Amino acid sequence: MVGAAVAVGAAKLGFKVAIIEANPAKDFDPNSPMDLRVSAISVASEQLLTQLGAWPSINSMRTCPYLGLETWERNENVKTAFRAEEVGASHLGHIIENRVIVLALWQQFADHSITPFTHTSINQINRNKGVVEITLASGEQLTAPLLVAADGANSYVRHWAGIGISGWDYGHHCMLININTEQGQQDTTWQQFTPTGPKALLPLPGNKASLVWYDSPATIKQLQQLNPRQLQSQIAQIFPNKLGQFEVVDYASFPLTRRHAQRYFIDNVVLLGDAAHTINPLAGQGVNLGFKDVAVLLQELEKVAAEQLGDTAWLQRYQDRRYKDNLLMMSAMDVFYKGFKIQTGPLPMLRNMLLKLANHSGPIKKQVLKYAMGLG
Ligand SMILES: Cc1cc2nc3c(=O)[nH]c(=O)nc-3n(C[C@H](O)[C@H](O)[C@H](O)COP(=O)(O)OP(=O)(O)OC[C@H]3O[C@@H](n4cnc5c(N)ncnc54)[C@H](O)[C@@H]3O)c2cc1C
Repeated sequence: MVGAAVAVGAAKLGFKVAIIEANPAKDFDPNSPMDLRVSAISVASEQLLTQLGAWPSINSMRTCPYLGLETWERNENVKTAFRAEEVGASHLGHIIENRVIVLALWQQFADHSITPFTHTSINQINRNKGVVEITLASGEQLTAPLLVAADGANSYVRHWAGIGISGWDYGHHCMLININTEQGQQDTTWQQFTPTGPKALLPLPGNKASLVWYDSPATIKQLQQLNPRQLQSQIAQIFPNKLGQFEVVDYASFPLTRRHAQRYFIDNVVLLGDAAHTINPLAGQGVNLGFKDVAVLLQELEKVAAEQLGDTAWLQRYQDRRYKDNLLMMSAMDVFYKGFKIQTGPLPMLRNMLLKLANHSGPIKKQVLKYAMGLG
């Protein structure tokens, strides 16, 4: 998602772009089942995708707008609930399949100077007099004054460039479960914090939804081995009653990790998206932070002529503008995640008081809503 967005944005600025992608976008079939990998896309990300020309295509494929966010701990009556209308907005964001976003961006390639190299990977990278030389597994060779690494959490390019990371595994996994529900299309994403980890629902188009079950690796492994009927009965016991009747369609699990690159560039190699930062998916901020990286990189790139690409002053400005923002969001997610796991002492009572307070405080709610929409 992030790499394709930079490619389109840079090409729109007049740069000649090559994109190397092992798994290119596949055509969209409206009758295909929902993919498990979906993202809550903020209003700010929607604005970027609109500027890049991809939004109309995304909208014509499959999206589900959400207008409300709700979170609570033990008692659903003590919840914090946010609605778009509280800040005069029509919606807070959309839940979209990752593959739909990628495809809509790839559809823009034909109109711009972008050459895709697909079903291949990088065999070798060299730096030679300010130029990056890449040899692909297919044998093709590319040279470029700038290499943008948006190759995900286990970035090969970051490793090759010798950029270190700080981070840890959360000791928790999360399971994504697509369901059909008896309820029609919903417009609220909700999350209950439980002692074993959050349990959440993201609405999907039609009578569908995506459940997110955070738990210990051992529990998630056990759940993964159940058949759909058995999993359904486990969900019914653990998830709140408001889920209603449902049927399990598809499921898979993912480990939760946190990674932050120690720097975002070295010489003429720059990191964006998950290659630079992998965040706890708790608040659905991962790719939204990546799209913020894209917006800032393009703003700085616009000020740079093609022959100055190798000059690192503009990359330093990109790093200065993005590093602290990403670190702040990652740290905030950690405070939430770890804070809600503590079940003893005065903290549970304090949390409930804070949830109540947040629900009744206009200024706090407005600020949280702005962050959720990517506009804060
Ligand atoms: C369970 C879960 C739920 C999430 N929910 C949300 C959410 O609701 N909202 C949100 O904003 N974020 C969410 N995220 C985070 C989001 O999925 C990531 O932040 C996002 O996928 C990062 O995008 P990216 O383009 O940087 O990297 P990736 O999506 O990892 O893409 C990297 C690309 O690089 C390619 N690639 C990698 N290495 C090579 C190579 N050597 N050669 C060629 N190609 C290569 C891969 O094929 C891939 O296409 C969630 C994450 C998880 C795990």
